[in-house]
Amino acid sequence: MIGSSMGLDYEIRDGALVWIRNPHTGAISYVVDVRGKSFAFALGERHMPRSAPPLTPEAIHHATRDCPFCPGNESATTRELIRLTHDDIPGWNGRISSASWLIRVVNNLFPRIPDQLTGGRNESYIVIEDPRHFIDSPRTPNDLMYTGALGEEHFFRLLACDARVVERAFSNRAVRSVVVRKNQGRESGASQPHLHQQIIGSPTPLPALDAEARTEREYPDFWHEFIELVDQLGLTLERDGPAVSFQTPIGAFPRSYDVVMPEARKLLHELTTTEMRSFARLLFRILHMLGPLPLDYEIHQGEGVPIHAHINVRLYPYSNVAGTLNLPNTIFENAAAIRRALERA
Ligand SMILES: [Zn+2]
Ligand SMILES: [Zn+2]
Repeated sequence: MIGSSMGLDYEIRDGALVWIRNPHTGAISYVVDVRGKSFAFALGERHMPRSAPPLTPEAIHHATRDCPFCPGNESATTRELIRLTHDDIPGWNGRISSASWLIRVVNNLFPRIPDQLTGGRNESYIVIEDPRHFIDSPRTPNDLMYTGALGEEHFFRLLACDARVVERAFSNRAVRSVVVRKNQGRESGASQPHLHQQIIGSPTPLPALDAEARTEREYPDFWHEFIELVDQLGLTLERDGPAVSFQTPIGAFPRSYDVVMPEARKLLHELTTTEMRSFARLLFRILHMLGPLPLDYEIHQGEGVPIHAHINVRLYPYSNVAGTLNLPNTIFENAAAIRRALERA
């Protein structure tokens, strides 16, 4: 069966997806059998020297001394714009911290988009997610704190803080589009090891968001039809109130997940508390499950477009070739396994 309606082109043979086209980018995902393929270059093989002794206080001091996002080095960043303290995040799951803050927002020292294009105001922000540089008892310099290790409540407060930054960016009349972006791990392109997000305000509709808005205008039912197809393929992970999460067959990478609220055609700071909770919950549960793996995610919002997040796991080498992506046929079993793991959690 070849499906083609509402902007979605795909083919299903004998009940299995053969290919599907991303309507925003035009990229085609081909489902392939990778069971016999060897991934000599896979990034997945991580050495966890369980027996290694914990890093010494000297080693920790050495690694964090020059980190601009560590407590004590606040003067190394640009002026602080927002600060959340222990009072703002009930149940913070860290040990007693000498830090007087739990989340800080500053301008990015290196604006993603030159500030002369956004009315002379730097609209690139850094949100430092937590004062902890390392996880508890790190054994190697790679045992960094990561978002999935924060509590669910902490992540909700983090997104609520992002909403304040988004609102601030949109208060600049020169800003038309705002994206929230996270890189986790060296393999995902993170430049700083200390966990943080970026929020970027753009004077023109950001190209990725613009492409989605165009699809939306042409096929206003796109997301509903897509969610229905994803369900039919067995890729849905969880639902929580107005939010749904799934393993996407049209992601940027072979292992990509989406969280979407199909009815919430609004910006992050326009969400009700209930909507924000559902969205944050499903996004956090995926991040928690993925743990410290290298990944990135983006939160996309824009006029008429349902608010959504794309999460890309960077466990496998990037395999987009000339607009084609190979989707391992194992993702279908994988989605079922993830669903069971989430149910247990
Ligand atoms: Zn740090
Ligand atoms: Zn998007």
